[in-house]
Amino acid sequence: MSTPTQAPITFDLKPSAHALPDAEREARLADPGFGRIFTDHMVTIRWTEGRGWHDAQLTPYAPLEIDPANMTLHYGQAIFEGLKAYRQADGSIATFRPEANAERFQASARRLAMPELPVETFVEAVELLVQQDQAWVPNQAEQSLYLRPFMFATEAALGVRPANSYLFMVIASPAGAYFPGGVKPVSVWLSEDYVRAAPGGTGAAKCAGNYAASLVAQAEAAAKGCDQVVWLDAAEHKWVEEMGGMNLYFVVGEGENATVVTPELSGALLPGITRDSLLTLADDLGYRSEERKISTEEWKQGNADGTITEVFACGTAAVITPVGHVKSAAADWTVANGEPGPITMQLREALLAIQGGQRPDTHHWLHKIV
Ligand SMILES: *Cc1c(COP(=O)(O)O)cnc(C)c1O
Repeated sequence: MSTPTQAPITFDLKPSAHALPDAEREARLADPGFGRIFTDHMVTIRWTEGRGWHDAQLTPYAPLEIDPANMTLHYGQAIFEGLKAYRQADGSIATFRPEANAERFQASARRLAMPELPVETFVEAVELLVQQDQAWVPNQAEQSLYLRPFMFATEAALGVRPANSYLFMVIASPAGAYFPGGVKPVSVWLSEDYVRAAPGGTGAAKCAGNYAASLVAQAEAAAKGCDQVVWLDAAEHKWVEEMGGMNLYFVVGEGENATVVTPELSGALLPGITRDSLLTLADDLGYRSEERKISTEEWKQGNADGTITEVFACGTAAVITPVGHVKSAAADWTVANGEPGPITMQLREALLAIQGGQRPDTHHWLHKIV
C-alpha cells in the first residue's frame, strides 16, 4: 500500500504549555502500576489514500473525536506494538530493539490490509515522544516507560473493505516493577475449549481482535484458579503455542547441559522480540536452544520424569515470568518444585542488565535516545 506520491515525513512539534508540574509528576511516578497513567504528549501521523503519510505531529496528550461510522469500531482494523524506554545506569535513556517492533508493526499492517509505516518513521516517532517526555522515564530498578504505538482506520463508512484513511499514534505510560515483591511464579490453564489463532488467521499479527477473542478464555482460566491461559494449536489442541501476551520457554535438562526450547513460529503465534532475544542470550550464556513443536503430553511427561526442569513465559511487559503450576480439564501438575528455576532467573537477570545498561550490549540491541 505504499503510494508513489509519498512526500518526506517531517514532524511538527507542538509541545504542551501545560505539562504536569514536577511535583505532581513525581507523585504519579511513585507507584505507576501498569497502563494507568499517561505522559504529557502523544505523536500522531495520518495516512490517506492517494497521499500517503502526512500531518506528523507531537502534541499534548488529548482525547480523540470519533465518528460513529468509524470503520475500526465496526470491522476492527486496529494493530499495536509495545516496547519500553529504560533509564540507563549513566542516567541516559534507551529503548530495546525498536526497529524489530517497527518491522513487526509493518507485518501486522500487511496482514490487516493497512498501510505500512516506514521503519525509520516509527523509530523517530518513538524517539520524539521519549525525548519530549523524558522526565517520565522512572529511575527505579525494573521500572520503565512503556511505549504504545498503534494504528487504526479513521474512515467513516459502512462496508467491509480496507479503509481509505488511518491514524498512527504513540502514547507512553510509566510502568512499575512487574513483581514489586519479588518474582512469583504464575499458574496456567491449558485452554481446550477456546482457540486463539488458526493457520492462515491473524495469530502472528499484533491486532486488537486477537485480544478481544482471548478474554473469555482468560476468564475461564481465572475461574479454574489460574493466572493465565496457555493456548494450544487450533487443529489438534495438542501443541503448546503461547500465553495470552507472552511466549513460552521450556528448560530441558539442568546446568550446563540444559537446552532451552521454545515453540516454533507456526504462523499462529506472535513472534515475540523477547522470545527472539532469549534465543541469542541463551547461546551467549552457554545453553543450547531449540525452536520446535512441544506437546502438552511432552510437558506433562517431562515434568513427571524430571527432564523438563523449568518453564517460563517472556514478553516486553513482564520480561520473564516463571510458570509454577499447570492445570487442564484432565490434569494438574506443579512445574519442578513450583519455585522460579535457576536458568529462568539467570536469563531474567541477564536481559534486565542489558536493558538497564549494566551488562555489555554485544548485540547492539539498545537504541540510545537521550
Ligand atoms: C506482544 C506479545 C508477545 C510478546 O512479544 P514481545 O515482543 O516479546 O513483547 C507474545 N504474545 C502475544 C500474544 C503478544 O501480543
